[in-house]
Amino acid sequence: MSARLASADLHRLSEIGPLLADVPTGLFIGGKWNSASDGRTIDVVDPATGHVVATVADGSIDDGRAAVDAAADALAGWSATAPRQRAEILRATFARMNERAEELAKLIVIENGKSLADARSEVAYAAEFFRWFSEEAVRVVGDVQTAPSGTNRIMVLRQPIGVCVLVTPWNFPAAMATRKIGPALAAGCTVVLKPASETPLTALAIAQILAEAGVPDGVVNVVPSRRSSAVVAAMLHDPRVRKLSFTGSTEVGQRLLREAADGVVSAAMELGGNAPFIVFDDADLDAAVTGAMLAKMRNGGEACTAANRFYVQRGVHDEFATRFSQAMRTITMGPGLDPSMQLGPMVNAAGRGKVAELVADAVARGATIVTGGESPSGPGFFYPPTVLTQVGHDATILAEEIFGPVAPIVSFDDESEVVAAANSTPYGLVAYVYTADLSRALRVSEALEFGMVGVNRALVSDPAAPFGGVKHSGLGREGGHDGLLEYLESKYLALEW
Ligand code: NAD
Repeated sequence: MSARLASADLHRLSEIGPLLADVPTGLFIGGKWNSASDGRTIDVVDPATGHVVATVADGSIDDGRAAVDAAADALAGWSATAPRQRAEILRATFARMNERAEELAKLIVIENGKSLADARSEVAYAAEFFRWFSEEAVRVVGDVQTAPSGTNRIMVLRQPIGVCVLVTPWNFPAAMATRKIGPALAAGCTVVLKPASETPLTALAIAQILAEAGVPDGVVNVVPSRRSSAVVAAMLHDPRVRKLSFTGSTEVGQRLLREAADGVVSAAMELGGNAPFIVFDDADLDAAVTGAMLAKMRNGGEACTAANRFYVQRGVHDEFATRFSQAMRTITMGPGLDPSMQLGPMVNAAGRGKVAELVADAVARGATIVTGGESPSGPGFFYPPTVLTQVGHDATILAEEIFGPVAPIVSFDDESEVVAAANSTPYGLVAYVYTADLSRALRVSEALEFGMVGVNRALVSDPAAPFGGVKHSGLGREGGHDGLLEYLESKYLALEW
């Protein structure tokens, strides 16, 4: 099947049509492309216009079960495949993804809305997980030790955990999928991926690339579905499924943890964030403003790592706010496929509505809008780069994940005050600290209750590093060697010889 175009304005039709012509739109189960068992479909909307641009098969409970059957059937063969061969296939996937990078980037723009520059960096980042985990596939090591009593030996094997269900969000439709598929395949596991209904095309294109690179039938299955709750629950209740890896909101993560508990399924959770971005008086302000732009505006603010609360020490508050607002004003906003645009639309009307409400609430509680703050008229779900100052500590925007291009700034006086404010959230994914004082940087980093800290650096995501959060931001780590361990089970052999 190929993507089918629905109504859209003629200009965008002529631009988008050829880009979607060869993109698969079926369910990918056991190496075959199928319609949904009940024929239902999902409309894919271009956030720049609000128009439907494709329809994709909408997996049913039966389709989810069929995908688990395919993954279970493929498990013995794939886990017995030589690690070097699994590594070569992952490496070939990395190469193939890079060959198709531009096409994938445009596909991401069409269904997610982000700017082409953001989409290109996402594809490069996403492909890198296949390279990193091709290198990790041959590093599945166990342990042997002498028991403390000296009477016997303890041997620990690391074996693939089994069939994995992977559930991913719409904000990084390629990278959130490859960050799970890469380590799962490296470890010898087979998977069923359920991508977000807003962005299924990217996941299906990645499935096609994996197949082209030599991944055997059934090792990777992709089931887009609007009926996520029922389909994922049915898969989690299949005793052959041993792992759930979820990236998405804390609310849905909590529901899925309860669901996974029934079958005692191992669960890795990459959930929401509420990142503080702390600027001390002694910070290099040029670096802090550049970092603030990246931490806030990467992916249009629709990132779990997005700076959500800016805490700026009083001595540099006004200068930082002025320079940061000037930089925010220079951002060009428009359809992501136009390469001169730095900010595309938000993913949907609901996302934009939530951001507008958070801004209205902050203003009602005394905040000042320095720039932005008003959605433009016309098609698409656009919201402008926005900076708020004088934000009260009671404003909802400081407590909730904004997930949009809005930066609330709060001033502070001393270190202990800002650490307490930064930690006063149930979330704990990432924090950013800008200071020229190394002792302070390390002291504050230790005191921050977050899984990751960017010190004078706004980009923390790296396939070679363990990405993940504490508290309500999640369980487990993705990337680095830790990412591989998530898909391995330790088996202990008690030995005498
Ligand atoms: P979401 O939780 O609404 O959806 C995530 C996925 O879960 C989607 O595939 C969705 O279809 C599915 N889903 C929704 N309800 C479900 C249910 N009841 N049962 C099973 N599956 C269900 O999140 P979203 O809006 O797609 O993504 C935004 C969220 O993701 C933000 O909170 C963001 O912080 C988080 N996120 C976290 C990370 C991280 O690494 N920590 C990375 C990216 C995004």
